[in-house]
Amino acid sequence: MKTERIFDTDAFTDTLEVSVIECRKSQREGYENLYEVITDSTIFAPEGGGQKCDEGFFDDEKVKDVREFDNEIIHFLEKEFALNTKTIQKIDSSLRFRRMQNHNAEHLICGIINKKFGYDNVGFHLSENYDENNNLHIEAIMDVDGPVSAEDLKEIEMTANLAIAENVPIYAILPTAEEAKDIPYRSKLDISENLRLVIIDGYDVCACCAPCLESSAQIQLVKIVDFMPHRGGMRLTLKAGIDAIEDYIKLHDDNKGVMKLLSCERGNCTDAVKRINEKLTEAHEDKIALKKQLTVMLEKELKEKIQNAGNKFIVFHAEGTDEVQARILVNDNIGSADKAIIVLFDKTDDGFRFVAGKNGNLTDVSLKDIAAKMREGLNARGGGSEQMIQGSIPGEESEIKAFFEGLN
Ligand SMILES: [Zn+2]
Repeated sequence: MKTERIFDTDAFTDTLEVSVIECRKSQREGYENLYEVITDSTIFAPEGGGQKCDEGFFDDEKVKDVREFDNEIIHFLEKEFALNTKTIQKIDSSLRFRRMQNHNAEHLICGIINKKFGYDNVGFHLSENYDENNNLHIEAIMDVDGPVSAEDLKEIEMTANLAIAENVPIYAILPTAEEAKDIPYRSKLDISENLRLVIIDGYDVCACCAPCLESSAQIQLVKIVDFMPHRGGMRLTLKAGIDAIEDYIKLHDDNKGVMKLLSCERGNCTDAVKRINEKLTEAHEDKIALKKQLTVMLEKELKEKIQNAGNKFIVFHAEGTDEVQARILVNDNIGSADKAIIVLFDKTDDGFRFVAGKNGNLTDVSLKDIAAKMREGLNARGGGSEQMIQGSIPGEESEIKAFFEGLN
C-alpha cells in the first residue's frame, strides 16, 4: 500500500491521524538507531527539489528526517511503532508557510522570466540560516540559463509583486502522462511518471514536488536581493513573504541609523557617503603630506643635536611620529654619527615606545647590553640586536634622559 501524499494537494492540513503500515530498524548509513516508519497517509513532505523536509512530530515523538526512496516516503524516528498503531502527525506549519512563500515566489519570478525571455530554471535551493539570536532566515537561490539586465530584473520583480496583489489562485495538479502531453510546463527533468504541476494562474506552470500556497497573495512580497552572472546565465537570490518583510524592517532600522549619522534624508545615503569618502581621501592625503613635513623638521632637529652633542647616547623625543617614522629617523642618522640614538615616540600616560640604533663604529657599546640595563633601570620592555633595539619605556622623558646621562 502506497502512502497517500496529503501535502501534494493540501499544504494547510498541519495535524492528521495516520496509521503505521510498516516500521523497521533502519539499515541506512547515517540513520543507524532510527526506525523507518511508513504510514497510510502523511502530511510530511520529504526532502527534495532543493528544499528540506517538514519538521514535526508523531504524537510527542520528534521526526528526525523524512526522505523518499523508491517512491516510498520514510519517516525516521527514534521510537519503534507497532503495526497499525494510530498516531497524530503534526508539522511546523509556520516553517512550512515561510518555505512556501519563498518557493512559490521563485516559481513566480521564474515563470515571468520564462515568458519574457524563454529561459529555463536550471538550479534552485532554499537557503536556511540561523543568526546569532537563533532566528531563522530563509531565502531562495535560483539559476536561469540566460542573461537578464538589472533594469529587466527590476521590471520582473514589479510584475511579480503586481501578480501577488492580483491574488490569483495557486494549486497543484497530478496529470497522467497522457494529460500532461497537452500542458506546456516548465521542468528541470523529463518527468512523465508521478508528474505534479504547480500552477500560478496566468503566470506559471512548473513541475514541482514541494507543498504550495493557495493564492499568490499569500506570497505577500518578493524582493530580488542579489543577482550575478552565473555559467552564462544568472544566479538570483530572493526573499519573499515574512522573510522579505523582516529584511525590510532590518534594512529600514539600519538605514535610519545611517541617516542620523550622516544627517541626510531618506534615499540620499549613497550620495552622503560618497561626499564623506571624498573628504576622507582629502584628509588622508593631507595627513601624509604633514607627516612628511614633520619627518623633515625632526631630521633637521636631530642632526643639529647629534652635531652639538658630546655624549655617546642621544635621547630624542620625536613627538607626533609613528614607528615607521621613528625607524627612519634612527636609520638615517646612525650612519654618520658615532652615537647611539634613542628615538622616543607614541607618548601615552604609560610612557613611550622607542627605537634605538647605532652603527658599527661605536664598538664599545652593545645595544643588547643597553636593553638589559634599560629593563633593569627603567623597567623597560623589549630588546633586539647589538645594533638595533626596540620596545617601550614607562615614565617621564626627564627620567629616561637622566638614565642615559648616567651611561655616558
Ligand atoms: Zn518548485
